[in-house]
Amino acid sequence: MAVPVSQAWTVATYILKQKLSGRKRFPLVTMLEPLFRCNLACAGCGKIQYPAHILKQELSPEECFRAVEEAGAPMVSIPGGEPLLHPQIAEIVAGLVERKKYVYMCTNALLLKEKLHLFKPSKYLSFSVHLDGQREHHDFSVCREGGYDIAVEGIKAAVAAGFRVTTNTTLFDGADPNSVRAFFDELMQLGVEGMMVAPGYTYEKAPDQKHFLGRARSRRLFRAILSNRKQAWKFNASPMYMEFLMGKREFTCTPWGMPAYSVFGWQKPCYLLQDGYADTFNELIETTDWNNYGTESGNPKCANCMVHSGYEASGAYYTFSSWKGFAETAMATLFSKYEDRGALDLLNEPIKPAHAPLVQIGASAEARAEQKHETVA
Ligand code: SF4
Repeated sequence: MAVPVSQAWTVATYILKQKLSGRKRFPLVTMLEPLFRCNLACAGCGKIQYPAHILKQELSPEECFRAVEEAGAPMVSIPGGEPLLHPQIAEIVAGLVERKKYVYMCTNALLLKEKLHLFKPSKYLSFSVHLDGQREHHDFSVCREGGYDIAVEGIKAAVAAGFRVTTNTTLFDGADPNSVRAFFDELMQLGVEGMMVAPGYTYEKAPDQKHFLGRARSRRLFRAILSNRKQAWKFNASPMYMEFLMGKREFTCTPWGMPAYSVFGWQKPCYLLQDGYADTFNELIETTDWNNYGTESGNPKCANCMVHSGYEASGAYYTFSSWKGFAETAMATLFSKYEDRGALDLLNEPIKPAHAPLVQIGASAEARAEQKHETVA
C-alpha cells in the first residue's frame, strides 16, 4: 500500500460515516490554492494566466484553516501556483498538520531543497512533486531546461530528511508509454512513497492547446502504461480510478469530491472549471447545478475530462458504496499486475513525439522575474 495504514483508515472511516449519515455530496480532498503565482510557466497549465494583480494575491493562514474546516475533508491538497512561493506556507502546513489533516503539498520542487528546513516530517505531510516524465520530457512539459534535475535533487533531499514524498504526473498527447514506464522505475529508485498519474485537462486558458488527450486516446495510453505492472511500482491513487484510466470501468464525475478554494472563494463546480464562485462550502453544494457537469452531461467542457479532481473521488466512493466495490478494490490491490498481451503490443507501436523547441510559453513578466530571482538566489 502506498499510503500509511492510519491514512487509509481515516479516509475509509470518514467515507463510511458520511454515507451512514445520509450525506449525499461530501468532499474527499479539499483543494486549497493559497496563490496562483508560480516560478514556472508550463504550456499545459491554466492556472497562471491571470493578470498581475490576481497573481499577487494570497490566502492568509486563517482563511486556509477556515476553508479546510468548513469542508471537513480528511485530506488537503495544496496546489497553485507554486505553494513554496507563499511567504506563510510553513505556517499554513503546520496549522493543517495540527488539525490532523493529511496534507499533500504540490510543488514543482524548484525551491524544495532550500525551503525544506521550514517543515517538519510528519505522517500527515507529503510533498507531492510535479514531474511529467523523464528528464527531456519533463523539461519540455514545464518549459524549463534543468527543471527535472532540480526537482530530483529536491526529492532526494526530502526523502533523506525523512519526509513522505509522492509524485504527480500529467500526461499529454505524444507521451511515450515506454519512457513513462522507465520513468516509474526511476521514481521508485529515488525512494518516493507512491506515484499519481493522470491525463491533462483541456484548459481553455492553456497556451498549448494541441497536445491534450481525448478520452479514447487516454485509455489507450494508460492501458499501455499501467498494464503488465512491475511489482516495485507503488501508486498513490484509488485502484478503481486507475482501472477507469485504463478503460476497464466507467465512472461518472464527482466534482464535489475535490472542491477548490482560492482567493476567489469556492470554485464552481470543480478545480478545473470556473462557472462562478461561492462564499461558503455549503453555498457551493447548494447553489451549483451539478447536473450540468460530468462527461455524461453533454457539457463540452467535460467531454474529454478524466482527471483526479473529478474521478478519483468517484473511484474511492465506489469502493465504499457496496461489498462488491470493496471486494473489487481489494482484488485490484492484491492482484495489481494486470497482465495484458494486447497492451504489450501497444508498447511496440511507433509514437509521434510532440516535442518542439524548448521555450518559456506565455511566461508572464512576473513569473519570469520570480524565476530569475530564484535562480540568482
Ligand atoms: S468532468 Fe467533472 S472534473 Fe472534469 S471538468 Fe467536468 S465537472 Fe470538472
